[in-house]
Amino acid sequence: MCCKPRAGVCAWHGPVLACLTTGSPATMKALVIDDTLTSMAVICAQLRKIGIEPLSASDGASGIEMFKEHRPDLVLLDVLMPGMDGYETAKRIRQLERDGEWAPILFLTARTNDDDLERGIAVGGDDFLIKPISEIVLTAKVRAMQRISQMRYSLVVLTRRLDEANRELLRLSSVDGLTCISNRRQFDECLLREWARGVRSAKPLSILMCDVDYFKQYNDLYGHPAGDECLKAVAQVLQNCVHRPADMVARYGGEEFTVVLPDTDVQGARLVAEEVRRCLEGLQMQHADSPLGLVTISVGVACRVPARETGSPVQLLGDADAALYQAKLAGRNKVFVAGEEWL
Ligand code: GH3
Ligand code: MG
Ligand code: MG
Repeated sequence: MCCKPRAGVCAWHGPVLACLTTGSPATMKALVIDDTLTSMAVICAQLRKIGIEPLSASDGASGIEMFKEHRPDLVLLDVLMPGMDGYETAKRIRQLERDGEWAPILFLTARTNDDDLERGIAVGGDDFLIKPISEIVLTAKVRAMQRISQMRYSLVVLTRRLDEANRELLRLSSVDGLTCISNRRQFDECLLREWARGVRSAKPLSILMCDVDYFKQYNDLYGHPAGDECLKAVAQVLQNCVHRPADMVARYGGEEFTVVLPDTDVQGARLVAEEVRRCLEGLQMQHADSPLGLVTISVGVACRVPARETGSPVQLLGDADAALYQAKLAGRNKVFVAGEEWL
């Protein structure tokens, strides 16, 4: 078909639908495949009369080539032709149609027994026109096909819009609205996935649990909008500190952030955590109500080689949380590793 979703008008699909390939109003094209020249001439003349541009081919093989080149909106196809007959031609035309494409096929025939009708529909035809062709019947059937095509096309457009909306919905449901990094839901999925992957690979899985220090006071002193800007900056720092494709930074909630580091041992995870802490400190964001004078972050690090005997993702998260608690106890702006000697 000539049309794909875009604003404008299409001669075939009407004012609500538009032509993607041309981007402008297009005359509807009908491909007539018929080896009888007189019949061909009559049909083409009638099509022109009703505002349709005819394209002609005198056998199945050249008809298929014309179809490939011009992608007509309608095919009028003689059943009895030397070489490839109309049924075989119709079958091949249907195979050429790309996803979402559909051009009605009307067979032209002098014969109309039940078997012919059944075969014609089975190979992908849509209706029959009896030779000699009546102008009135030709016009009526072309209009009827146009109506079906229009409805079908509206459905294709709506389905595409629905697909786009669903994709956007999926994206929104996994992204944090303020910081535009992954949200808690995405983090939970990632942690489960990476734990399962780690069980198979027997490679260590690390996570960081990060919490902005004295953030309540920051909000109280500078106001919520400034607090939000601060959280965006923290998210950016975290993003900048992870470098591998599988690493993932998420907003866990409030002023808490998590980082998943697959295939990373405890030393590697500690390095990333220390870089996060140092980079945020390096931003020198003033925080007059913090004993440290700056916006800082405390980080808890946990690492396990995933296996049934080594616990679960929930336990890994618990380790990181406990380490974070120790970092807070130790005065904040610190990195603590789960399992290492604590105060
Ligand atoms: P600590 O150093 O022990 O972590 O102290 P804290 O004040 O950071 O910790 P607490 O958990 O008591 O406070 C977290 C505060 O984070 C509460 C709330 O004011 C703030 N907060 C949570 N979510 C948001 C948000 O989306 N925007 C802003 N501006 N503030 C938030
Ligand atoms: Mg907190
Ligand atoms: Mg905090």
